[in-house]
Formats: sequence, structure tokens, C-alpha cells
Amino acid sequence: MDSTEFRKRGMEMVEYICNYLETLGERRVTPSVEPGYLRHLLPTEAPQEPEDWDQIMSDVEDKIMPGVTHWQHPRFHAYFPAGNSFPSILGDMLGDGIGCIGFSWAASPACTELETIVLDWLGKAIGLPDHFLALKEGSTGGGVIQTSASECVLVTMLAARAQALKRLKAQHPFVEEGHLLSKLMAYCSKEAHSCVEKAAMICFVKLRILEPDENASLRGQTVGEAMEEDELQGLVPFFVSTTLGTTGSCAFDNLTEIGNELKKFPCVWLHVDAAYAGNSFICPELKPLLKGIEYADSFNTNPNKWLLTNFDCSTLWVRDRIRLTSALVVDPLYLKHGYSDAAIDYRHWGVPLSRRFRSLKLCAKLVA
Ligand code: PLP
Repeated sequence: MDSTEFRKRGMEMVEYICNYLETLGERRVTPSVEPGYLRHLLPTEAPQEPEDWDQIMSDVEDKIMPGVTHWQHPRFHAYFPAGNSFPSILGDMLGDGIGCIGFSWAASPACTELETIVLDWLGKAIGLPDHFLALKEGSTGGGVIQTSASECVLVTMLAARAQALKRLKAQHPFVEEGHLLSKLMAYCSKEAHSCVEKAAMICFVKLRILEPDENASLRGQTVGEAMEEDELQGLVPFFVSTTLGTTGSCAFDNLTEIGNELKKFPCVWLHVDAAYAGNSFICPELKPLLKGIEYADSFNTNPNKWLLTNFDCSTLWVRDRIRLTSALVVDPLYLKHGYSDAAIDYRHWGVPLSRRFRSLKLCAKLVA
């Protein structure tokens, strides 16, 4: 396909998407297909010769669409809302067209800098304290876009684990690192998302799942007592994951109480998972639900849920970016550049090296 045909097909695709979204209500929300339905409709090998685009689009309508669950359908009420909007789609189209891989500032300066600026905008709109904003005078923190909330929880747990192990190694220089690791204990509520359990599995640390109160809210006393009990057993509390807007019932853990309890455990990392409800704090009347955020070391929310931005777009802010990146830095010669000290390299803020220009769609949604 050359640019002349792309221009034509691109316009047709925009038309197809508009028609799809405008007439979505006429389709079934969920498909009536059985596992393996598509295997019987497609060849077993990719074609040797290119096919005509009209034929491809007719296959999309006849073979793909019957197997699609329409998350944007007005009667789709399963799981959680999947954000989408025309500005966000346009932002993603532009990112795909530019096609850069922004793992460091040098790999694509605008990709890095727009992400930092837009995360500051969104952090301010949500009402996060200044120490989470990268461009605020004197701030040590900042924001980053991750693929999913699960990844936000994982990387913060990895950072907390690295920080705890460093401290324990300094205290017990002759004890095996594996032994120190076996002492680390993370905490969350029974109502927390399963991604906390998964992160603990990956980090190879123990997780104590605590009972919330009758309003499904995790309370400070529960956390404090559990940590004191564990310390008496020789274990080392290092990470608490709280939730503002739980998956089951949109309950809110008592962040102020938990933060107050953690004053007795100053080395414990406090994470706030607001994947679902976090975007709502933009509304002035909902800001009180963010009470206690001043105690947090990190906070995540998913604009790809409520904020009309299409997947993937999970935003994570940390109070201290050095504590995050020191757990994730590997620095081979071929990725170094002359501005490493002066610029953010987002490759140190998460698991993957390569990253898309995702801030374009979030920016487009915030401004259009
Ligand atoms: N945390 C909470 C509170 C959630 O509601 C969800 C998803 O529904 C997640 C984490 C996981 O989100 P993701 O699919 O972005 O990993």
C-alpha cells in the first residue's frame, strides 16, 4: 500500500469507524460464537499474495465483527467502562503514524517531554500534592504512563522491595539476600484487585490480605496491628497497597488512618491504587475522597477507564522518582546519551524498554 492508497483507505476507515460507533446500538452487545469460531473461517497460513483492501474490510465485517464484544455499546455494562473518544482515537492515529519508540529523551524528545507535561496537568487536575509533579520547583517526583494498573502496582512493589532490601543489606551485610527477601511482607485489603496478589507472586514476597470493615474499607488499626504482629514474628513490613474505588463495590480504604499508622513504620511504601475511581477526583465535589493522599508514596489511575481515553493508558505518579528508578535501572552503553543527567528517560520507570507515544491521545482528550 502506498501513500495514495493509504489516503483513500484511511478516509474509508474513518468513515467505517464513524458508522460503527453511530450504529453500535443496533448490534448485539456480546457475540454468539463458540471458542475456535474464527479458526474455521480463516486459512491456516498467511496468504502469499496481498489481498485487495475491499476484500479485507469485507472479511472484517463478516468474520471479525461477529466475534467482537462491543465495549462501547450503550448497553455494555460488564467489567468496567472502557474509555474512548474521537480526540483520543486521533491522538493514537498520530502516534501510530509517527511510530517512534520513546524509551529515552534522546530516542524522541517530544515523546518524553509531552508525557511529563501531560502527567503534571492531569496530576494537578486530580489534586495530587505538588511532590508528585515532575515540573514543580523542588519536586522529586513525577508521573509516567504505564500499560496497565497491574503494571503500576508491580513496579511500585518492585521499587519498595529494592528499597527494603537495600536497607536490610546495610543492617545485615553478611546475610544472604534470599533470606532477607523471605522476611518481606506486603499488605492489602481482601477487596484489593487481584493484581496486588500477582505483583507479590512476581516479586517473590509474602502478602498478607487483611479484612476490611463492614463498608469494605481497610482501616488503619487493622493495618497497624497486622504489621506489629508480623514484626514480632521477625518479618519486615515493606509495602501497603490501598485502594480508592475497589473493583467489587467502589469502596474507599481509609487512607488518612492508614497513613497515620504508617508513621510508626517510616520505611514502608504506601501505594494508592485508584485505577477505577481516580479520574473522578478531577470533579471538585469528589476531591474529599482523595483525603490522606499526602501520606502516599505512589498513586495510579486509569484514564482508559473513565477519562474517555482509549486503552492503553495507566497513569502512575511517585513521590520520589529516584526510589522508583533505582529499582529498574540497567544502563548499557548503546542506550546512553549526552543528556542522561538533564532529562527523564522513561525506560527506567517501568518494565519494557520500548514505549509508544501514548501521551498524544491523553493530551488530545484533555485539550479537545
Ligand atoms: N485495580 C483496580 C482497583 C481495578 O479496578 C482494576 C481493573 O479493573 C485493576 C487494578 C487492574 O487494571 P488493569 O487492567 O489496568 O491492570
